[in-house]
Amino acid sequence: MGCVFCKIISKKISSDVIYEDDNIVAFNDLSPVAPVHFLVIPKIHISSADEICDENKYIISEIFGHIPLICRNLGLNGEYRIVNNCGKMAGQTVNHIHFHVLSGREFGWPPG
Ligand code: AMP
Ligand code: ZN
Repeated sequence: MGCVFCKIISKKISSDVIYEDDNIVAFNDLSPVAPVHFLVIPKIHISSADEICDENKYIISEIFGHIPLICRNLGLNGEYRIVNNCGKMAGQTVNHIHFHVLSGREFGWPPG
């Protein structure tokens, strides 16, 4: 399958991994838009947030259970933004669910 994030998980593409366990991987974004910008993804392929269901929803709590730990390890002091883009109109470009974690500067609201 042509999924770039599945290739990162299987190490067919190299990435700058900052956390990994049996179920999830966190790695630095290739094109950061903030001083800290990493992505957290499940190892199982889920196309987008719109595909979360009873069968796979456990992985979302795995991801959110680890984000504070990763952020603490990076010394982010509880100051960060978590973003999920779902669908083309919302800015999703990679069709493997991922949560952006951004930090190190101020962020506006509403997002552009
Ligand atoms: P989105 O636009 O929400 O789908 O986010 C996709 C993100 O994946 C973008 O911020 C890209 O910079 C990032 N990205 C794409 N390919 C890679 C890669 N090989 N390694 C790290 N980040 C990537
Ligand atoms: Zn995938």
